[in-house]
Amino acid sequence: RAKSAGGNRFELADPEADARAITRHGLTTALPAALDRGEFFIEYQPLVHLGDGSVRGAEALVRWLHPQHGVLGPDRFIPLAEHTGLIVPLGRWVLEESVRQARAWQERHAEAGPLRINVNLSPMQLTHPGLVSDTVDILERAGLEPGALCLEVTESALIGADDDLLKPLRRLSEMGVDIALDDFGTGYSNLANLRRLPVNVLKLDRSFTQGMQQFPADPVDLKIVEGIVSLAHSLDLAVTVEGVETGAQAEQLRELGCDTAQGWYYARPGPPDRLHDLALADATS
Ligand code: C2E
Ligand code: MG
Ligand code: MG
Ligand code: MG
Repeated sequence: RAKSAGGNRFELADPEADARAITRHGLTTALPAALDRGEFFIEYQPLVHLGDGSVRGAEALVRWLHPQHGVLGPDRFIPLAEHTGLIVPLGRWVLEESVRQARAWQERHAEAGPLRINVNLSPMQLTHPGLVSDTVDILERAGLEPGALCLEVTESALIGADDDLLKPLRRLSEMGVDIALDDFGTGYSNLANLRRLPVNVLKLDRSFTQGMQQFPADPVDLKIVEGIVSLAHSLDLAVTVEGVETGAQAEQLRELGCDTAQGWYYARPGPPDRLHDLALADATS
């Protein structure tokens, strides 16, 4: 099917693009009912202390068990949910479910130390007026202390952010909730800008750890990471690294002074009981 409109005579049909568009459209319209029917679920990926290798908590990563397409990753549907606004109730559900889960881990085994939970926030959730009150309600109902929650916000969501946008994050931060700058290094970050953001954790994007995959690692990559870590620490920010896939990377990142790590080397995202088992195993080993 070529476009009938006058000037576009050479634009040919692209059946694959059509199929993608249909799927996108189909997925978008199916989202609200999916939330009602409970088709979303959360996997948890451990956050590991680089100094002693202990599990300190987990990041909540949402998935959609679609009745026809099987398990869909967040990259397939989060942008659609952002676009339609469904991200607000979906994000609230993720927060509620994972905060409840974190409290359940804490109750099941105090010996593993107070496990923490990281939850991703979309740009639209940031501008939603209920963010602070919803978060407070959710923490209170679950009985989780604010200090056990870390909200992850991407660098791009905060680019050019004015004070109105930062105010809710600042309120949460004052309550003791940690705020992490996710995917750090992928945007056009103005490092000086970090000072005015209510952020206390920097999550270095996977692209940095990828540069360390080969051995010996690229010395320029190492210098860059070293520089970011020292800058972060001088601003009182903790550094978490994403995408750690090998023991050599973990060792190198530890030497460079990174605080916490996450990646397949430790564990892939998995069901809540797996996190429980991992945390318990290293508390009793
Ligand atoms: P993110 O927050 O940067 O999460 C890390 C992503 O890296 C996850 O992908 C995780 O599965 C993947 N990953 C972890 N370790 C490794 C590794 O060693 N190697 C490689 N190659 N990948 C690794 P996932 O689960 O597909 O999530 C993708 C993105 O979707 C997340 O990126 C986050 O931005 C977004 N997302 C996930 N859950 C939610 C949510 O509940 N709300 C919102 N707004 N966004 C979410
Ligand atoms: Mg994240
Ligand atoms: Mg990330
Ligand atoms: Mg990332």
